[in-house]
Amino acid sequence: MRRALPAVCLVLALALSSCAPQKRTASFFAMDTFMELTVYGEESVLDDTRALIERLEGELSVTDPDSEIRALNQNGTAELGEDARSLLERALEICALTGGALDITVYPVVRAWGFTVGEYRVPEPEEIAALLEKVDYTRISDLTLPEGFMVDLGAVAKGRASDEAVRIWGEAGVKSGLMSLGGSVYAMGTKPDGSRWRVGIRDPFSDGLLAAVEVEDRAVVTSGGYERYFEENGERYHHIIDPKTGYPARSGLASVTVIGGEGTLCDGLSTAFYVMGLERALELWRSARLEVEAVFVTEDGEITVTEGLEGSFEPLGDYKNAEIKVVGRG
Ligand code: ADP
Ligand code: MG
Repeated sequence: MRRALPAVCLVLALALSSCAPQKRTASFFAMDTFMELTVYGEESVLDDTRALIERLEGELSVTDPDSEIRALNQNGTAELGEDARSLLERALEICALTGGALDITVYPVVRAWGFTVGEYRVPEPEEIAALLEKVDYTRISDLTLPEGFMVDLGAVAKGRASDEAVRIWGEAGVKSGLMSLGGSVYAMGTKPDGSRWRVGIRDPFSDGLLAAVEVEDRAVVTSGGYERYFEENGERYHHIIDPKTGYPARSGLASVTVIGGEGTLCDGLSTAFYVMGLERALELWRSARLEVEAVFVTEDGEITVTEGLEGSFEPLGDYKNAEIKVVGRG
């Protein structure tokens, strides 16, 4: 009996390894950012995910001459497929939820600053004032735009891409995977050994990491002024625009990370919270009972996390001994 044990173990180990899904990875450039996928499953899942992301980009891009959103912006109305229609509807809900801190009609202003194609410039105040006349998501009805209005789903597109990718991963039988679509991360299930995924949050002031969060079935989405900006006459101008002023948001935050079950919502909220600043964002988080957690980093380097992250938020490097403020729903 004793001598049979190693043989039994060997057979068991072989049987287990043959049915354990293999780790597969892919990385590519899409939606203007670097993307990395890790799945425990079939190789075809990676190809399907990339095809899905490229399809969404083709439909939603504001610059692609063939995109549905481009057609909508040019004509005020367009034949929209299910992807564009459902994302537009969800985005409008998040615009309303955030009182217009997220406003998908801010595009004419974003474009004037040159963020769309990277031809940066500081518009004259009169130009911004005139363009702000064309910014107000509440004027969209029946997915039709008033004259001169244009929409940009860039603030929610990567989050939606992650939600759709997780859906096809589930359909393909994947139980475990991680994707990083620029600032939008989604961790599906747990790691194959059953432990939670550790997702890094970037330090907005350096190339290093600020912290790690341990998550399972969660989107982790970060917005920050450091992601895309230009400098002119010693002034720094970044790509998140306050729809009330038409200027890059100056709310005292350096970055916001939002963690929750829906990538689209987390993506929209991370942009909106960045515009709103710490106090207003927390007020909304409490009053609307938002089912997300968040990490706020102020320009002074102070870190505030919501209480649901206690036990899963771990400061790293220079931040190991930093004071972390934990806030509750109160
Ligand atoms: P990133 O795309 O860099 O991850 P965000 O998700 O925060 O960052 O989205 C920023 C993009 O959304 C900008 O590049 C711009 O196209 C658009 N945008 C900027 N400000 C707003 C805003 N207040 N509401 C909606 N969209 C915005
Ligand atoms: Mg966003």
